[in-house]
Amino acid sequence: MKKDLPSHAQVVIIGGGIHGCSVAYHLAKQGLTDVVLLERKQLTSGTTWHAAGLVGQLQGSHATTAFAKYGIELLQEIEAETGQNPGYRRSGSISIAVNDERMAELKRKADFAKLHGIEAHYLETAEIQERWPLMNPDGVLGGIYMPSDGSANPVDLTTALAKGARMRGAKVFENIKVEEVLTRGNKAVGVRTDQGTISADYVVNCGGMWARDLGRQNGVGVPLHACEHYYLVTEAIENLPSDLPVLRSYCDGTYWKEDAGKLLFGFAHFQAKPWGMKGISEDFEFDSLPFVEEDVMEVLELAMNRVPLLQETGIRTFFNGPESYSYDGRFILGQAPDISNYFVLGGVNSTGIQSGSGAGRAVAQWIIDGHPPIDLSEMDPKRCEEFQARDPYLQERCPETLVLTYAMHWPNRQRDTVRNLRRTPFYHPMKARGACFTEAQGWERPGWFAPEGVEPKYEYSFGRQNWFPMCKRNRRPRVKLLR
Ligand SMILES: Cc1cc2nc3c(=O)[nH]c(=O)nc-3n(C[C@H](O)[C@H](O)[C@H](O)COP(=O)(O)OP(=O)(O)OC[C@H]3O[C@@H](n4cnc5c(N)ncnc54)[C@H](O)[C@@H]3O)c2cc1C
Repeated sequence: MKKDLPSHAQVVIIGGGIHGCSVAYHLAKQGLTDVVLLERKQLTSGTTWHAAGLVGQLQGSHATTAFAKYGIELLQEIEAETGQNPGYRRSGSISIAVNDERMAELKRKADFAKLHGIEAHYLETAEIQERWPLMNPDGVLGGIYMPSDGSANPVDLTTALAKGARMRGAKVFENIKVEEVLTRGNKAVGVRTDQGTISADYVVNCGGMWARDLGRQNGVGVPLHACEHYYLVTEAIENLPSDLPVLRSYCDGTYWKEDAGKLLFGFAHFQAKPWGMKGISEDFEFDSLPFVEEDVMEVLELAMNRVPLLQETGIRTFFNGPESYSYDGRFILGQAPDISNYFVLGGVNSTGIQSGSGAGRAVAQWIIDGHPPIDLSEMDPKRCEEFQARDPYLQERCPETLVLTYAMHWPNRQRDTVRNLRRTPFYHPMKARGACFTEAQGWERPGWFAPEGVEPKYEYSFGRQNWFPMCKRNRRPRVKLLR
């Protein structure tokens, strides 16, 4: 047993990426200092070290907006507290739209931000061009500017969180692997590591892309899978303004940020792939994956059209790294369904740097207070059925989550992958009657019925969708109440 490894801690955290360090920091900050964090290799060596570091607050839900807002606040405070600079650059961000639907979506998200007290302004295309002169304005209808968005250094931010946790008494150990979460009855009671056993009142699984396998040992479904995620960095660009805001063009699936005189641009590409299907090698540490040009060609062309300078600029770094995506695009945050005092935080779909501070704080508050600090039901691990945490399902579904990152987030949006898993005996008769099927927990259920001559297919919109008149027409007559 490692000399200073304690035999008991109130909370044991598995994983020294941004999430594990954030949970440790916030527990300690709120007075629960008997905390042990265990990392199998070095801090940040899984996914965190290679993140692009964008921190944005234009989110789709109350919880994720609250997380991102707090993340920016902490970035501005943590250096004074810990002495470690997290590399926050308040460059602002501009999200552009090239069609009316996208503009509507951006404005909706900007409203969420304003509701949370985050500054967000509409910009005309000419104003965007002034701030981002390298952008090709063709087709751009306008955009949303968020002055307090920007970027952070993922390693420095994680180091600051770990340092802040240690300063308050938490213990952080590297090169210790958790082999098993120990349970008694239906309760987590500690961990067995490769260097001894620690009993604990709470265990938090922040194991990143390993979290699924770790959870599985105890029957805890952690529905995430690693997928290949890319960005590129150009060679130095002469006279590149250092104060360029982060630019996001959702319709092109691409983002850009100034990076020490170069342009870093990344994307939600259209040919996403799962990674680590046969397991992740034991010695994975600060590793990257092969860059497959044809997987990103389509999105690369869109990027070059939006920022034409890329056509004549050399690329210095072609980066591909694994990131955990969840099966439905929502975080996995909360208590395991059948094991009390076993918490999970992961599968945040490439937002760990911007949301990790807020998500870690939420887990810490939940442990301390015995209930979540805000409504986090959208992220509850209980939403996942057993088959949704299995590899064949996740390997098809999670890449679609990546592809959809920058797609329109329509109400009622249906997934294309892993359909027709569960059908009732009425499926075919209902199909023959014009059913347009929607999927819930694998079940194909009729969302609405199309009359003859109408294709049973969603036409998405933020206004009334095409099913509205069909449902109105199908409404059953009111039953007369008997007096
Ligand atoms: C190319 C790329 C670009 C990205 N860009 C951004 C961005 O711009 N903005 C943003 O917000 N996010 C971005 N992300 C996402 C972000 O990096 C991740 O969401 C985040 O780092 C995940 O952190 P984590 O702590 O969950 O996982 P990890 O960093 O992987 O940490 C998990 C840790 O757990 C350890 N571990 C696992 N099993 C065990 C065990 N049994 N015992 C002990 N330790 C264990 C691992 O070694 C690992 O260090 C990007 C990701 C990629 C791949």
